Amino acid sequence: MSDLLKQLEDRSGNACELCASTDTLEQKVELAVYEVPDSPKNVKDIAILACKVCREQLEDESKVDVNHWRALNDSMWSTVPAVQVVVYRMLDQLKSEGWPQDLLDMMYLEDDTRNWGRRRNTTWPTNYSQRCKW
Ligand SMILES: [Zn+2]
Repeated sequence: MSDLLKQLEDRSGNACELCASTDTLEQKVELAVYEVPDSPKNVKDIAILACKVCREQLEDESKVDVNHWRALNDSMWSTVPAVQVVVYRMLDQLKSEGWPQDLLDMMYLEDDTRNWGRRRNTTWPTNYSQRCKW
């Protein structure tokens, strides 16, 4: 077992940091490390512990089940910036549903965390072409 996984398990109490799922006798939720994409280089803790369902939906927008993310109602109050960023991005992605927008309005983020949440690869091609003008 990696040190990182161990650290995250301790931090989260062996639960998904997004939807709070834990392993039960009936069901294994397959908790694993999820690294927040598009993270600034100067941030060290960019990993969270997430269950299989959350990870699948984070990695593939077409699999997103809005109801699964109702749990963000609780995880939005996490004090872990990496968790806050994932919650922020998911709420932003779902905001046309209405309730995610309400949660976004209530969510408190430090400026650094908010900026991290807004970092997206989508701006990359623009920057790239600007840099390559010469
Ligand atoms: Zn989960």
